[in-house]
Amino acid sequence: MDGLLFGTAGTPIRSNGNDSLSGIRRVNELGLGCMELEFVRGVKMGEETAQKVGVLAKKLDIRLSVHAPYYINLNGEGEIRLKSRERILNSARVGNICGAKSVVVHAGFIQNDSRKAAYEKIKKELIEIKEQMNRQGLNITLRIETMGRNSQFGNLEEVLGITEVAGVLPCIDFSHLHAATGKNNSMEEFADILKGIENKLGREGLNNMHIHVSGIEYSDKGEKRHMELEESDFKFRELVQAFSDFDIKGMVICESPNLEFDALKLRTEYEKAKRH
Ligand SMILES: [Zn+2]
Repeated sequence: MDGLLFGTAGTPIRSNGNDSLSGIRRVNELGLGCMELEFVRGVKMGEETAQKVGVLAKKLDIRLSVHAPYYINLNGEGEIRLKSRERILNSARVGNICGAKSVVVHAGFIQNDSRKAAYEKIKKELIEIKEQMNRQGLNITLRIETMGRNSQFGNLEEVLGITEVAGVLPCIDFSHLHAATGKNNSMEEFADILKGIENKLGREGLNNMHIHVSGIEYSDKGEKRHMELEESDFKFRELVQAFSDFDIKGMVICESPNLEFDALKLRTEYEKAKRH
């Protein structure tokens, strides 16, 4: 994997159309390097479109990832759990046709369980999902995301721990890590997070990162909503300085409401940091 790529969560706002093909073209025109396909309200992309997406992304050298539907709870019961499995498998199947290397997943909710019990159940589900993926020849990494509320599975420890399941890696949403506790918003803390990743996954972990960033509003209950970078208290300049200091590689997906504007801002700040 070469360098750190910046891109948008879905099709940039100012694209010719709001479909994924227009999005990939726009990402390329803007000089960005990657895009996340947003299957967040369901996997609606057909195989034919997925093939076209894959061909175009390859031609323009745009790296792709997929965000699985929001309605997933691997700590749920019965139907909820089965549907969650199906949504992840469908995301992986279509993502694979697109040539995406990762599927980002919100794993679920802690509910009335202990965090430990939720962890064990989600782990068991992920093992079974990965087995099914292997049987279907779906060679695509599941990325469990760090979440913005404590009621959700996905603090840093959980997201790093769950990589014990083969084929599972983290998606580090730094804005969520900040919103969940109000902490994680300084050079020192960003460096600690990256060191934690290196301790758990080795240098290979820092060479293959998947990151989400946006401005964020939060309360003592955690995340409220995404905002533009300059409107929020999130210290994105310090964050990209840490990216540069640790020489991390992979994908940074911007989830601000003004998608491409802030993606370009992050990249510009990152390049400034690298020159220092
Ligand atoms: Zn997400």
